[in-house]
Amino acid sequence: MPASPANDPTLHSWIDIRPTEDFPIQNLPFGVISTPERGPRLAVAIGGYALDLYACAQRGYFDSIAEDVPALGAALPKVFRRRSLNAFLRLGRPAWRAVREAASALLRHDNPTLRDDEEAVRDCLLRQRDVDLLRPVKPANYTDFYSSLEHATNVGKLFRPDNPLLPNWRHLPVAYHGRASSIVVSGTAIRRPQGQYRPAGQEAPVFGPSQQLDFELETAFVVGKTTALGETVPIDQAEDHIFGLLLFNDWSARDIQSWEYQPLGPFLGKSFASSVSPWVVTLDALEPFRVAGPGQEPLPLPYLQMPGEQHFDIQLEMLLLPAGSTVAPLVLSHTSTSYLYWSMAQQLTHHTSNGCPLVAGDLCASGTISGPTPGSLGCLLELTLGGTQPLRLPNDLNLTYLQDGDTVILRGYAEKNGLRIGLGEVSGTVLPAAG
Ligand code: MN
Repeated sequence: MPASPANDPTLHSWIDIRPTEDFPIQNLPFGVISTPERGPRLAVAIGGYALDLYACAQRGYFDSIAEDVPALGAALPKVFRRRSLNAFLRLGRPAWRAVREAASALLRHDNPTLRDDEEAVRDCLLRQRDVDLLRPVKPANYTDFYSSLEHATNVGKLFRPDNPLLPNWRHLPVAYHGRASSIVVSGTAIRRPQGQYRPAGQEAPVFGPSQQLDFELETAFVVGKTTALGETVPIDQAEDHIFGLLLFNDWSARDIQSWEYQPLGPFLGKSFASSVSPWVVTLDALEPFRVAGPGQEPLPLPYLQMPGEQHFDIQLEMLLLPAGSTVAPLVLSHTSTSYLYWSMAQQLTHHTSNGCPLVAGDLCASGTISGPTPGSLGCLLELTLGGTQPLRLPNDLNLTYLQDGDTVILRGYAEKNGLRIGLGEVSGTVLPAAG
């Protein structure tokens, strides 16, 4: 697919945006905003602002693309007055691309249409800090992969020092089906879960608040296209089914997880909450940041083989703001999506290889992303070797697992040749277990 003109690195906007901000005109990620007066609207982020797509459509700014993309024309303007991106996703890639390009044209420095109309600017452009940023999609399903070789090896070593990687791992992207019902947007407080676990050295399990609450540094892709029961997606078409990427924190209760997971995998140690960032960065916007990835040995089976650059280099940082802290958040981990062994295209193709339908709005998370160095480990289970070696932080702070009141923040951005595309952030604060 040819590069979108909205990616032109020389573009700049009439809105003032610093080079270190996440949302320059080359990004334009999609999300859902809400105010008490307007209710929910679809929007794209530009600098510190949100461009209200419903307001733009009502002013006729999308009339010309509505002619070019009939599915979009039939859905305007109502498709932008929704509580999630789902209906917009179902319009397909030509509609996603046309709207991003029309928004880009409206916002570029030399287009007076919106720029010089003060009343329209007040109507269409809202400060992000003045609106609620809602969960961008309503996922019917959520799948969590396990696609980082370093993470799978490190976790495997904790349980099986001699044989960390199971025999299937290099042949298929391992995953489990999670719960879509507990996926929350950034800023939602996370209640420490209660559950059954077996304290170290004891025979019998107990029930109570988890003592080993952890985060998992992940990204997730948003499925853009619904497939039919029995339909499979060939790997060279897989990316047409992917709308974009967001940041994902897969909160995990390690004590509950380690007691319950055999033989059928993660269950209540995971399903109490996962947090997502509010803005979905499109694959179009990420196009300049493609990389080859780590290489696969042995070669996967033919249905999972795909030449070329199938990975993206997105820098990811996990930060901790300890309970009661007034200092700046502490960086716990810095890693990159380029370390992932399995690509999103491989994950999607494998997911549909048995004919199981995907639904537009579904989320597929990467699994914890760890790199090869101690500073690039994506969860406390790894950073503290199963809780046995506390992290020493500034101010005499020792960290094993999360405490009530701790805030965890995940940030992500891609940067190349002076162009920076951010994913924004996802944060959550731990609340005490229910009384
Ligand atoms: Mn996970």
